[in-house]
Amino acid sequence: MTADAVSPLPRSSHHREAPPAVTAMVRLIRDAWMKAEPYTPEISQFFYGMLFTLAPATRDFFPINMEVQRGRLVRALVHIVQMVDRPDDLVPFLRQLGRDHRKFGVIPRHYEAVGTALLAALKNQLGPDWTPEVERAWAEAFTIVARAMQEAAASDTNPASWSATVVEHRRLSWDLALVRLQPDQPVPYLPGQYMSVEVPQRPRLWRYLSPANAPREDGGMEFHVRAVDGGWVSRAIVSHTQLGDVWRFGPPLGRLKVDRESGRDVLMIAGGTGIAPLSSILDNLAQWGDNPSVQVFYGGPGREDLYDLEQLRALAATNPWLTVVPVVERGQPTAGFELGTLPEAVTRHGAWPKHDVLVSGSPSMIRATVSRMLVAGSALDQIKYDPFTID
Ligand SMILES: Cc1cc2nc3c(=O)[nH]c(=O)nc-3n(C[C@H](O)[C@H](O)[C@H](O)COP(=O)(O)OP(=O)(O)OC[C@H]3O[C@@H](n4cnc5c(N)ncnc54)[C@H](O)[C@@H]3O)c2cc1C
Repeated sequence: MTADAVSPLPRSSHHREAPPAVTAMVRLIRDAWMKAEPYTPEISQFFYGMLFTLAPATRDFFPINMEVQRGRLVRALVHIVQMVDRPDDLVPFLRQLGRDHRKFGVIPRHYEAVGTALLAALKNQLGPDWTPEVERAWAEAFTIVARAMQEAAASDTNPASWSATVVEHRRLSWDLALVRLQPDQPVPYLPGQYMSVEVPQRPRLWRYLSPANAPREDGGMEFHVRAVDGGWVSRAIVSHTQLGDVWRFGPPLGRLKVDRESGRDVLMIAGGTGIAPLSSILDNLAQWGDNPSVQVFYGGPGREDLYDLEQLRALAATNPWLTVVPVVERGQPTAGFELGTLPEAVTRHGAWPKHDVLVSGSPSMIRATVSRMLVAGSALDQIKYDPFTID
């Protein structure tokens, strides 16, 4: 398992209670991790040393400069292992992750080596706190995780990865680029999904990106990429992408979608490039006449951050089921704009009990929006969002 990775999965509200033995196992795992967590750098160093000794081929899955990898994989592994008491959330996710890892050429022996290295690194750090009971809990949980991933990988008949060529790279602002790609064969994504992506400027540093258009027959995809401060991959994409570059993609992931048959209206909340997967869904809905009513709250610090507003407004002008509400945090009150943060603007209108809610944006924006909506009285199972990255 590598680690472009993944973290807090939303807890589905209808999850089954775990059996007491599993609850006890997870408690042991959490207690041990609480003691170990401050030493993540040491644990990671030991972990990689052991992994590359046990399975030297796995070294090729990681960037040349391991500094950028830091504690990512260890933190992702620990996070996932702690979730084995939530199979309804975890298993579908692990299956996606297992399919995604086919792009590295991961084989069962590598999973074994990862498990052995993780347990050895924790044992080395925890000393007397690493009791046989604790070890058994970690081993069992890791086995559940690895098995779900491997089963999904083994039963997947799709290609392990896809490639696509950059046909357009346009700077929309100093820190934002639009990139269009043409794949050799279409990537089979659904509107609202995302993929892990590797670009030639940053080999082996896989990051998630969301196509902003609905799947097209010719397979063409458009991405919006924001350069984050200190970001290894996003800055390289925005500043150094060339026409003709070949990007590699893992299989599509994610659960943002609109159910046209549910009879429920939809509230979409997007911050920054979080608009991309929602635009993909809207692009798809626009092919149909009879859609649920969709309201999009699209926010950023200032007017200039709402780079996709004109596109959205053009779509709304020809699609009466769509309403767009721009939200800005600073400036004078302006007609047609709401002032404030996205969570403030959305909850000003209540709890949206009749709506399915899709939230997309940075981890902090998603966290703030979901928690404020819950306080305002929205139910958790109304709200969908994709996992955050760790870091
Ligand atoms: C499901 C999903 C879909 C995504 N879709 C898109 C997309 O369509 N377009 C897009 O531009 N990005 C998208 N991202 C974010 C993207 O995957 C990368 O995390 C982001 O580009 C930063 O990568 P980096 O290598 O430049 O930064 P790193 O080198 O990994 O991190 C550098 C610094 O930036 C911080 N950081 C990392 N990610 C973010 C972030 N999202 N916002 C603010 N700070 C961050 C880190 O904490 C760290 O301090 C998506 C993420 C997820 C989880």
